[in-house]
Amino acid sequence: MTQQLEGKTALVTGGSTGIGFASARRLAEEGAHVFVTGRREAALDEAVAAIGPARATAVVGDVSRAADVDRLYAAVRARGRGLDVVFANAGTGAFATLEETTEEHLDAIFGVNVRGTVLTVRGALPLLNDGASVILNSSVRADDGVPAFGAYAASKAALRSFARTWANELKGRGVRVNVVSPGTIDTPGTKTIGAGTVPAAARARFAATPLGRIGRPEEVADAVVFLASERSSFVLGANLYVDGGENQV
Ligand code: NAP
Repeated sequence: MTQQLEGKTALVTGGSTGIGFASARRLAEEGAHVFVTGRREAALDEAVAAIGPARATAVVGDVSRAADVDRLYAAVRARGRGLDVVFANAGTGAFATLEETTEEHLDAIFGVNVRGTVLTVRGALPLLNDGASVILNSSVRADDGVPAFGAYAASKAALRSFARTWANELKGRGVRVNVVSPGTIDTPGTKTIGAGTVPAAARARFAATPLGRIGRPEEVADAVVFLASERSSFVLGANLYVDGGENQV
């Protein structure tokens, strides 16, 4: 079967584990060379070994730090092929009710999820090839109001909003911007979120999907490959839910 992304170059932020890793692996299977980022070098090295060193390049960095993002794009520029796919996936979550919300909590969540995504997509602009696809990782939580998850939910709603604006700003260059919104997915992040402080009610709610299970990272990765490829050439500014029907039925 023909590979959908033969000769393309992709970037997946937070590509060492979970949804990002599964997506990076699928993008590489479809023929792309994939840059993967994350803060932990050892986890990135493992990811590159699993994807195949000829198909992936690791760049250590924190998406919320402009200097790290500059270093990432210097590495992409040095390869000389531009970028055809950007999956702005790196994100973080923690629980705090409004009453418990501190400046540190807000800055931690918005710094990675919102500022990190803006820095990632803004930094990619000079490198984006015609026809490139930008995909933002939001969440079903952007649409609901799980108690004590307000900062995370609001940060993910911000990404859905940015996608609408950026889709309009970039369409003239043939660049498409879309969103993927996973439901609860079985990843290391889901297990450790809030370091075990996930309120029991929230945990029960996250698992209660119409399909009766939580999702696998590979199921989100398939949606990412669709949005990354020409198969989605008429999809612009959309929000593709991969949530087992959680927010749909
Ligand atoms: P995960 O397994 O914890 O993976 C997160 C990845 O992001 C890791 O590679 C991590 O590596 C990296 N990362 C975290 N903070 C970073 C930063 N500041 N700079 C660069 N890289 C960073 O998480 P996941 O569950 O796959 O989540 C991935 C994305 O999907 C997030 O945006 C999350 O909000 C979203 N999402 C997840 C679910 C779910 O149920 N799992 C549902 C909806 C949306 P380092 O720790 O080494 O930096």
